[in-house]
Formats: sequence, C-alpha cells, structure tokens
Amino acid sequence: MTAGGGSVDVSEIGELVPPDRTLMGPGPSDVHPRVLKAMSTPLVGHLDPSFIEIMNDVQELLRYTFRTDNRWTIPVSGTGSAAMEAAIGNLVEPGDTMLVPTNGYFGGRMASMARRAGGDVVEVDAPWGEPLEPDDVADALAEHDPDVFGFVHAETSTGVLQPDVPELTAAAHDHDAVVIADTVTSIGGVELRVDEWGIDVAYAGPQKCLSCPPGASPLTLSDDAMEKVLSREEQSRSWYLDLSLLEGYWGDERAYHHTAPITSVYAIREALRLVAEEGIEQRWARHERLAGALKAGVEAMGLEMNAPDAYWLPSLNAVRVPEGIDDGDVCTELLERYDLEIASGLGDLDGDIFRIGCMGHSARPENVIYVLTALGDVLEGMGADVDPGRGVTAGRRALGE
Ligand SMILES: *Cc1c(COP(=O)(O)O)cnc(C)c1O
Repeated sequence: MTAGGGSVDVSEIGELVPPDRTLMGPGPSDVHPRVLKAMSTPLVGHLDPSFIEIMNDVQELLRYTFRTDNRWTIPVSGTGSAAMEAAIGNLVEPGDTMLVPTNGYFGGRMASMARRAGGDVVEVDAPWGEPLEPDDVADALAEHDPDVFGFVHAETSTGVLQPDVPELTAAAHDHDAVVIADTVTSIGGVELRVDEWGIDVAYAGPQKCLSCPPGASPLTLSDDAMEKVLSREEQSRSWYLDLSLLEGYWGDERAYHHTAPITSVYAIREALRLVAEEGIEQRWARHERLAGALKAGVEAMGLEMNAPDAYWLPSLNAVRVPEGIDDGDVCTELLERYDLEIASGLGDLDGDIFRIGCMGHSARPENVIYVLTALGDVLEGMGADVDPGRGVTAGRRALGE
C-alpha cells in the first residue's frame, strides 16, 4: 500500500508560461496592464480599514458604471454566474413565477436557476438571434402574472442587443413584477442606464467589457428589490450568496461573512477607475466605433452579420459562417497561427456563426485590423469566397486611418 498523492517532479511541470493570445471572443477580454499591476500588489485583511475604503471605492465606481444610485451595489465573489445566481436565488422565492426569454443561451440558464430556487418558470418566446418583442412580453406578463421578469440585455450567445428596455420594464411594473436584467456583456460596453430604464436588479461580469479577470462580479438592487429579499419567508437556498447575509459585509456593519477575494476586488477597482477616466458615454461610443469598423470590414470582405443593425450588439459580433466552411476549423487555425481567440456558435446557432468580441481593452484599432487580416487570410486559405484586402481597407477607412 502506498500513501495517496505520490510524488511530483516539478521540473516536469515547470513555470507557468501561458501563450500570448489576443482575446476577441465572448470573454474574457484582454486585461489592461494597470489592472494586472493592481493584482500584483500586497494583500491586506478583508476587514482592514484600508480595505473598507477600497470596498467603498468599488461600490461608488460600480454605481457610476451601472448609472444607478442604488445603495445595494456590490461585487459578488465569483464569476458572472455567481452574481446571476445571487440575483435569481434571492429574488425568486419558492412558489414565485419567473418569466424568462427563450432567445439565447443565458435565458435558459436563468430558467435553471429559477427552478433551483423553487420557482415556477414561464417563457416569452423569441428565436435565437432575435430580440424580445415588447408586445410578446406584454402578452406573457398578462397571461402568467409573474413575480419576476428576467431578460438578457446583451445576449453573448447570439450577438443581439435587446432594444426597448424601458418599454419592457414599464410593462413588467404594470404587473408588479421585479425586473432582473443580465447585463454581463453590456456593462461598460454599450449604453446601459439602470435607474433611467427602470431596471430593478442588474447583474454583470468583470471579464467582458470591463476587461478585468473573472473573480468579482457586479450586482445592483433597488431598495424595493432588496425589500423583497429581506422579507422572504424562507431563507435563500444558498448560504454563500444569501444577500441578507452579504448585507452585513457590504452594508454599514462590515461584519465577516466570507473572505472577500481581495485581489479580485483590487482588480475591479482599477478596471472601474479606467472606465471612469475614459467616461462611461465615451466608452460606449468607443465600442460602437471600433466594432463598427470591424463590422464594416467583415461585410466588405463578403461576410454577413447575423443581426440586423437595429439590434446589432457592438461588444459581440455574430458573423455568419460562409458556405462550406467549418467554423471550428477556422477558430482552431486562428488560435494556432495567429494566437487569436474568437468563438463559434452555441445552441440553435451552432455551426452558423462566429462570435467576435470587441470588449474593453480588446476594443482597439490594431485589434480590429488584426482580426480582419487574420480571419480573411484563414477563410481565403480554406477556399471561402472572401476578399480579405477589401475587408482590411474598409476597416481602416471606418477607423479613419
Ligand atoms: C458570460 C456571461 C454570463 C456568465 O458569466 P460567467 O462569468 O461565465 O459565469 C452570463 N450572462 C451572459 C450574457 C454572459 O455573456
């Protein structure tokens, strides 16, 4: 009998040297050097007076970025799905009904989380690649009278930006439903106004348009939404994500609940400082301009966008895969030959689209030209009917170069 674990030859494992990729997929995006630097600074305790200041800074910067005055605005320890589960797991009580969309991957995840929270799930239908129609949402609200309505503002699986948000929230409020918005791929990348648009609860992720490593994920709740959470009859099923307990740490008390991921909080603080330095509206405009150049380039090359302009999502560009081309092979070749990451489609759009992110620090002119050059080259090499030169020229023109 030998003891478990055995021995390990460290010379075989070696120092960590990740490849130097350009990240233009659905997230993570490239991280700004200032954020990486913040992450290499020394730890302090999670109740250290200096850390309490840092927590205040993060909350203030998150309110700015979400465009909200909500007191309950915090980074949740974990990835975007943790913030998502904190929202749904606390707002949906056993026996509550939640209305969710069918038009993408993340609406499906909302449904799974609502069911696990003990809720009944009803759906508002729209195909993958289309936004929700306000009339359909109004009809579903009238039919099901849900307690909670969830929608995805920027659907990363389809490249669709949900328009008419104020109309959707107004309709939900007419039925006294709490509105939860998935803003993971919109925060810091496309126009998002939590208060003005009447969103009660919004969750997000740091590794998309905020260009911060995954770790601490934005969440904001209105006072009314928090009141629903605090007056639950049954405790939330998750201890870790119970907002009534997290209130003790992020509220006035600052009492221990779990150890905050200190380094991730440093990171999001610096990433949000970069947002505020640039200016939130300027940042939205930059994403639209840079992704607009990318879009002009892929179209001039001979490719087609999946979403019409009316609901094109600048932070995630869904491009149709040309006839006879295998999307997976293209992604693999881009990674191997160009150290460039883009992604293929999921679910109903599997095999039909490429998903090209244009997020945060990755949304730079040189990256746009790089993607156009590399994608054009790889597709041409596979025999697709594309004109890479025209694509790059159109991209440059759109960038004003
Ligand atoms: C990425 C993403 C999530 C999940 O975030 P993770 O950080 O992967 O847990 C949720 N919703 C949308 C729209 C996303 O793009």
